[in-house]
Amino acid sequence: FITLGIESSCDETSASVVAEGRNALSNVIASQIKVHQVFGGVVPEIASRHHLDNINTVIDSALKEADVTLDEVDLIGVTHGPGLVGALLIGLATAKAMAYARKKPLVGVHHIQGHISANYLEHKDLKPPFLALVVSGGHTNIVDVEGYNQYRVLGRTRDDAAGEAFDKVARVLGLGYPGGPLIDEAAKKGNPHAVEFKRVYLEKDSLDFSFSGIKTGVLNYLNTQKLKGELVSVEDIAASFQLAVMEVIVNKTIMAAVNLKKDRIVMAGGVAANSLLRGMLKEACDKKGLGLYHPSPILCTDNAAMIACAAYYKYQAGIEDDFYLDAYPNLAL
Ligand code: ATP
Ligand code: MG
Ligand code: FE
Repeated sequence: FITLGIESSCDETSASVVAEGRNALSNVIASQIKVHQVFGGVVPEIASRHHLDNINTVIDSALKEADVTLDEVDLIGVTHGPGLVGALLIGLATAKAMAYARKKPLVGVHHIQGHISANYLEHKDLKPPFLALVVSGGHTNIVDVEGYNQYRVLGRTRDDAAGEAFDKVARVLGLGYPGGPLIDEAAKKGNPHAVEFKRVYLEKDSLDFSFSGIKTGVLNYLNTQKLKGELVSVEDIAASFQLAVMEVIVNKTIMAAVNLKKDRIVMAGGVAANSLLRGMLKEACDKKGLGLYHPSPILCTDNAAMIACAAYYKYQAGIEDDFYLDAYPNLAL
C-alpha cells in the first residue's frame, strides 16, 4: 500500500512516498531556510511563492527516488493545518488536483499528528498508547496518545512555543536563524549555571507552559550587562537559557507520565532534536523505568514522510476527505 505525503505548512516543501504506512521509500525536503535567513524569520508571502515554485519538482523527485509511478499510489495525504494559510494552500491544492485527476483517495492530516507519527517510521514496533511530548516551532504540548487517531492534549503553551523561544533568544544573542540548533551548539561551550533564569511552572500540577518570561529575562540580563559595561558570554547565556527551559519541560513531562501511569514517552517536533533535552529526558526516564522514543533529527523537523504515515493510519480507520477539504491555520488536534 503506497501513500504519497505532501507537506507545505511553513518553510519546507516536502513530498514522500511511504510503503505500508511505515516504510519511507523517499522523503524529499526543499528547505527555504536560506531564503528567510536574511529576514531573521519566515516571511509568509515569500514562503507561499517558493512552495509554488518547488512543489511539482519535489513531488516528481519523491516518486522517482522511490521508483514509484503516480499510478501505483494508493492514497494521497496532505497537511491541511495548522500553519501559514498561504503555504498550506499550495500543498492542499496540489494534493486535491492529483487526487481528482487520478481518482485517488485524499486524507487531510493535522501537522502535529504528523510530527508524532514520525516515530512510527523509525520505531517499527511502536504503537499507542503512550505519552507524547511535542516541542516544535509553534507548539509545546503534552499529549495523551490513546490510539493512532485519538489524542488528548493535557498541557500546552500559554504564550511562546519552545522552538519560538529558542529562535527569539538566538536572535537577541546574535546567533542567527533558525536559532534552535545554533543555541544547542553554542550551549555546549557554555556554563549552564552562569545565570539562574527563572523556571516557570505555573499552578501546581499544571501541565501548561510559559516561555515568554524567560525570553524577556534573557533580554533584560543582556541590557543590564551592557549598561554595566560587563562582557557577556553568548555561550554561557545560551547554556543557562537552554537548561532553564529544558528543566521545566522534562519535569512536567515526567510528572504527566507518572500521574497517568504511562510507561513510554515519545518525543516529536523540531526541538526534540535538541541534544540537552534528549539527554536529560533519557536520564529521567531511566530513573523512572520509562521507555523513551524520538525520531532522528531529519524526521523531527518538517517532512512529508510523517504526513504520509499519519494519513495511512487515518485511512485505515476509515477516514477519507472530499474535495471540500480546506486549510485551517489554527486547526485543533
Ligand atoms: P509547528 O510544527 O509547531 O507547526 P514548525 O513546523 O515551524 O512549527 P518544526 O519544524 O517542528 O516547527 O521545528 C522547527 C523548530 O525547531 C525551530 O524553532 C527550531 O529552532 C527548532 N529546533 C530545531 N533543531 C533544534 C535543536 N537542536 N534544539 C532546539 N531547537 C531546535
Ligand atoms: Mg521549518
Ligand atoms: Fe512542524
